[in-house]
Amino acid sequence: MGVLRFVFLGIAAWIIFRLVQRALGLQPPPARREEKPAAPPQAMRPCAYCKVHVPEGESTQSKGHFFCSEAHRDAFFRGQR
Ligand SMILES: [Zn+2]
Repeated sequence: MGVLRFVFLGIAAWIIFRLVQRALGLQPPPARREEKPAAPPQAMRPCAYCKVHVPEGESTQSKGHFFCSEAHRDAFFRGQR
């Protein structure tokens, strides 16, 4: 009997300890880094027509779409209608 009560008290103390610990330890973790996305110098854009990825600087952009060439831009908008 005595041993059982001791164990029960130990478990109860542990639960209370955990509850207090959780109540006190709710502050967010200190190591919260602001992650800046490492923007590549040239974002690769898929051609809307042939899906080939081309650097944004070398792509032809029109109406929110990127194209590897003006020929594909024309072909894309021709095929849309
Ligand atoms: Zn293309």
